[in-house]
Amino acid sequence: MGRAFVYVILGGGVAAGYAALEFARRGGYSRGELCIISEEAAAPYERPALSKGYLLPEGASRLPGFHTCVGANDELLTTKWYEEQGIELVLGTKVISADVRRKTLLTGTGETISYKTLIIATGARALKLQEFGIQGSDASNICYLRNVDDADKLVNAMKSCPGGNAVVIGGGYIGMECAAALVTNKIRVTMVFPEKHCMGRLFTPKIAEYYENYYTSKGVTFVKGTVLTSFEKDTTGKVTAVILKDGRHLPADMVVIGIGIRANTSLFEGQLVMSMENGGIKVNGQLQTSDSSVYAVGDVAAFPIKLFDGDIRRLEHVDSARRTARHAVASILEASKARDIDYLPFFYSRVFTLSWQFYGDNVGEVVHFGDFTSSSPRFGAYWVNKGRIAGAFLEGGSRDEYEAISVTVRRKAKVVNMAELGKQGLAFAIQE
Ligand code: FAD
Ligand code: NDP
Repeated sequence: MGRAFVYVILGGGVAAGYAALEFARRGGYSRGELCIISEEAAAPYERPALSKGYLLPEGASRLPGFHTCVGANDELLTTKWYEEQGIELVLGTKVISADVRRKTLLTGTGETISYKTLIIATGARALKLQEFGIQGSDASNICYLRNVDDADKLVNAMKSCPGGNAVVIGGGYIGMECAAALVTNKIRVTMVFPEKHCMGRLFTPKIAEYYENYYTSKGVTFVKGTVLTSFEKDTTGKVTAVILKDGRHLPADMVVIGIGIRANTSLFEGQLVMSMENGGIKVNGQLQTSDSSVYAVGDVAAFPIKLFDGDIRRLEHVDSARRTARHAVASILEASKARDIDYLPFFYSRVFTLSWQFYGDNVGEVVHFGDFTSSSPRFGAYWVNKGRIAGAFLEGGSRDEYEAISVTVRRKAKVVNMAELGKQGLAFAIQE
């Protein structure tokens, strides 16, 4: 049993949706030549909605409302759109092995799908507690969050314990956004993470302090510098308490785990060159892997960042997934004119009424600016490396202000006086 396509997009997440739109816009294929194979039952959707709109107590987002590419204010690609465009959606189908030399993929249903050009968009999977030797994380009230099924489980868990207690494990993106959503659903939250402060890989202690104080004012309790070791359960197997390494027992009606992800590279290990230090598939500036017929995009791809002097990075953010996907399709369809991607790393989050953006790299010396005391804040930070702006963070900015900091980072604006930079704050970027 088998089918042959010219182009196969493996994975049906954010990057797949944006790649499909780029193919459709450029018209570089005929009906039946392009397919998307996805383990998920739904057509590509905007994954960020799962920790924001999807969890709202009222007016929650549901499919088909957040299929790609609405997150970039572009067309809503429903299954009908794929049909109209002649793009085959092979949904609910897991690829279990790949043969790059033969250009074939084997699905869990036993079908062999061949391609001339493959775009790997397999994204990443949530790290499970079992991987840290902690058992019992399959209980019905323990939630991870990577796909719609996970989000439905989380919504059901919230509905089953109105006014109850949730323990959130991890102080990264999932932890912060889910804690805010739980509070909005009137559930009491305790956050547990090993670091000294939340968002340890990006936030400075001063930035983290603002958000932790804000969360505390919303009723969130922080337990820092320790990890979970085991669970207490009732006779039905439901978790009733979380036991920490420091001996504390935290009562829990539900648990949310956000302890990081691993890129889904395993199908291609031993066949394509990997970036070991980044844990992804290594690609060049055109998103092409070590095999010229295979491209990799989104969370799974480790690609060179021109702005960082060609340093290879694997980014786990939606803007990067969208742009690498579009760039790969442009490279495939216009091989003779293909350029290297020139990407400015961009991360953001929205929680409660807060909203921040970050551009660039958080390396070098940090200078903070703005008002960290208000409940409707406008503050930020610049990272200065070798006398130039390397990264910038802004909470509460306007569209023009975010644009200004992004331009300043892209231009690697020169900094003469650090104290003056702190005094000027946002004005430094706006005057640039
Ligand atoms: P994914 O979107 O993860 O898609 C991968 C797809 O591949 C999935 O459909 C998966 O089922 C499929 N797949 C994997 N292996 C196989 C296989 N063997 N066979 C078939 N199919 C397979 N980023 C931001 O910048 N801002 C945000 O606010 C934000 N919020 C987020 C909220 C949540 C809850 C999550 C989980 C992520 C969030 N992100 C956010 C990160 C962002 O969603 C990811 O960077 C983005 O989804 C990556 O896109 P991708 O296409 O590479 O991978
Ligand atoms: P993150 O990498 O953001 O954060 C994981 C957190 O868990 C870190 O603080 C980490 O600490 C901590 N941690 C690691 N191991 C343990 C442990 N055993 N016990 C307790 N804490 C632990 O991953 P998330 O899971 O939060 O997010 C998953 C993915 O979803 C990421 O790719 C993220 O980019 C994406 N996402 C992005 C959003 C956005 O951009 N707004 C929103 C939601 C998700 P340490 O740093 O020390 O390892």
